[in-house]
Amino acid sequence: MSDPQGSGQGAVIARADHGVSRKDISPNALRVLYKLRDAGFEAYIVGGAVRDLLIGGHPKDFDVATNATPEQVRAQFRNCRLIGRRFRLAHIMFGQEIIEVATFRASGDDDTALVDRQVHEEGHLIRDNVYGTLEEDAFRRDFTANALYYTVEDFSVRDIVGGYADVQARILRLIGDPVTRYREDPVRMLRAVRLAAKLDFSIHATAAEPIPELAGLLASASSARLFDECLKIFLAGSAEKSFLLLERFALLDVLFPDTAKALQTNRTGALRDMLLESLRQTDARVNAGKSVAPGFLFACLLWPAYCRELAILQNSGAELSVAQQRAADRVTLRQVERIAIPRRFSLPMHEIWQLQTRFSQRTRKRVFRLLAHPRFRAAFDFLALRATGIPELAEEVQFWEQAQTMAPEQLAQIIPGQSKPAIGGESAHVPPKRRRRRSKPKTTDG
Ligand code: ATP
Ligand code: MG
Repeated sequence: MSDPQGSGQGAVIARADHGVSRKDISPNALRVLYKLRDAGFEAYIVGGAVRDLLIGGHPKDFDVATNATPEQVRAQFRNCRLIGRRFRLAHIMFGQEIIEVATFRASGDDDTALVDRQVHEEGHLIRDNVYGTLEEDAFRRDFTANALYYTVEDFSVRDIVGGYADVQARILRLIGDPVTRYREDPVRMLRAVRLAAKLDFSIHATAAEPIPELAGLLASASSARLFDECLKIFLAGSAEKSFLLLERFALLDVLFPDTAKALQTNRTGALRDMLLESLRQTDARVNAGKSVAPGFLFACLLWPAYCRELAILQNSGAELSVAQQRAADRVTLRQVERIAIPRRFSLPMHEIWQLQTRFSQRTRKRVFRLLAHPRFRAAFDFLALRATGIPELAEEVQFWEQAQTMAPEQLAQIIPGQSKPAIGGESAHVPPKRRRRRSKPKTTDG
């Protein structure tokens, strides 16, 4: 039925032979297909959406591929914006939904591709778009399962590289020579892991085998792109499974080197247990439709690294508060070289870490101050997570769990107070600089 060698035009899977139904497709994506067709162009839904529809899933977005140039696409739609420089894409806006329309492209950075150059009067290149045919467009994609094309012409699916059979068998198979394709774009290794975990596909042996050896190439990928990819990996509802695959394929060592090192040297395995528990909880939240704050996620992913650094600093005699600050700074500084975590996420991550030692301080003043801290809830959730591996923390969790629900007067009665409790809004106005140094506080031990 299909054409794994990709020698010709591939196979056409007729409407009667596949399960993709129009009622599962975004009406806006269908509108785009009909409009382009009526204007005389070829247009297909392509990529993840077709793959997901074939396995009965619900695509989160619909991408369209067409033989119309971006300008020709724009001419068809009022609600269209062109984006991108080298590869121009059309975004058709339907309220919240954006349908991305891409012109068929030949292989990425390949100079042999058909190049459509437009030269400005002054002579400099204003556009360098590499367009291609549907067949070429299929071959530049990563996995065969991602290279299926659905058309409203006869509601069939075009399969150029054997993707249909691979989707049926739930296999991720790279198109072309795996080593070449990973060298071209190392992020494909992460996509293999992410898609395998999310879709419950297996990575074909030929695509899996070279990964550990090539993992190091990821270090050359842009840190901004790795940040985006990282959020996709850990916020797709299959974070735990993805993490285990990253570990297995030695990708963790490249993405989170300090965490990987800390996990390898943590003899009890408690840090790994906690991290896996945090990912299970992340998955549970995502799958229940709840949001997950990236700051919290990174606090979990980098906690082993932070604990390790903290221990090193304390062993060399640094005072706890100094060591905490420095450990957080060092871990973050090294991590952002790989993954560009924006400050709006690394700052809450720091706060969550720093607040961990404050849960053991239970004078009235400190209790009310901590409860009023804007990051209290996140830090408390983090404490609860730590407690799953450290039974001694159970009492602390219980205390703070209760403290949150009690009326201030009630709470004031059950805690020893050298000072009057600050209540509600008042407590938020306590000047932050009045903190005194603690004599012998507990350390964070994972
Ligand atoms: P998801 O369901 O998570 O969105 P997806 O496969 O749709 O998965 P996208 O990032 O939306 O992933 O990419 C859309 C399509 O673009 C892919 O299905 C694939 O055909 C192609 N693609 C994306 N990234 C690459 C890459 N690095 N190399 C080759 N093709 C890619
Ligand atoms: Mg997609």
